[in-house]
Amino acid sequence: MSPMSYQLLYPAIYFNELFFLNADANIIFCFFAAQNNCKIMHKSGFVNIIGSPNVGKSTLMNILVGERLSIITSKAQTTRHRILGIVNDEEHQIVFSDTPGIVDPAYKMHEGMMGFVKSAITDADVILLMVEVKERQFKDQEILEKLQKTEVPIILLINKIDEIDQTFLEEKVNYWKEILPKAKVYPISALHDFNVDQVLLEIKALLPECPPFYDKDQLTDKPEKFFVSEIIREKILLNYKKEIPYSCEVEIEAFKEEPKIIRIRAVIMVIRDSQKGILIGHQGKELKKVGTLARKDIEKFFDKKVFLELYVKVNKDWRNSEDQLKRFGYLNK
Ligand code: GDP
Ligand code: MG
Repeated sequence: MSPMSYQLLYPAIYFNELFFLNADANIIFCFFAAQNNCKIMHKSGFVNIIGSPNVGKSTLMNILVGERLSIITSKAQTTRHRILGIVNDEEHQIVFSDTPGIVDPAYKMHEGMMGFVKSAITDADVILLMVEVKERQFKDQEILEKLQKTEVPIILLINKIDEIDQTFLEEKVNYWKEILPKAKVYPISALHDFNVDQVLLEIKALLPECPPFYDKDQLTDKPEKFFVSEIIREKILLNYKKEIPYSCEVEIEAFKEEPKIIRIRAVIMVIRDSQKGILIGHQGKELKKVGTLARKDIEKFFDKKVFLELYVKVNKDWRNSEDQLKRFGYLNK
């Protein structure tokens, strides 16, 4: 079923409530404006996107923010850090935060990642809980209980509805409504940008009245260097199989902007000598491929010519060393 036919079949259920909400919001707004000599009311808040790996959280955030902020691939655990994406209009500032997927903490790095997820439930103004339409049940009981108890409004997004038919979707909507009765449920397709603008309206309605937290022209809280390392990491994920990508960390050693070119030196850290060999490849071919693909994307990101120098270093214990995890931003300093 195409997203469009879904819209035609379901207008009443998923859109009515929203229109009423908006109508109310407008009335409140007009009243407020009259009382305050037409001063504009501003709403801002933190909206945290959580859900299992690979459900489409980063795809959604990129659509919402309109920039390729989070790297997206079909492999799980692509997103290791919490990344903010900021959406501004005259009356709203929505600070989205894309979290790593919910996983078991097998390594110390994962413990840090789960810390991000848990705090994402408590420090939000609105929680966007994303599930995949084919997901059978919620995997993490501890997180589900936190979600059931929280006072923070939850919008539950059933993503990838482009992949299934309508009867199946109804079943799913009922299932999730039973598990999280307070949540507002929206079937969406992040990839095809279907129903995403309705979600945005719902979020705006739920935001508290508040002045902006960040400059209104700011898109993210992360430094430019961070995006360079994420782009390189994305190319590693796409280019190598098995455990290689998960054993790598990318550190930007030098970032020098000149009038016509940006010069970047990055080191890829791996855990074992054998991985270093695989990364570099025969006569350096594999590393060169990663470097070229990454350079092209970095040039697009900065809209400028880039000279990228990549090398590989063995660093046996980066995933389990607290100092190093702090340095890479996985644990609080
Ligand atoms: P995350 O791990 O939750 O951040 O998931 P990503 O955003 O990285 O997406 C994982 C994969 O799902 C990517 O291959 C996306 O293209 C794909 N994906 C995301 N949204 C949709 C959708 O609405 N429909 C379909 N069919 N695929 C999607
Ligand atoms: Mg992600």
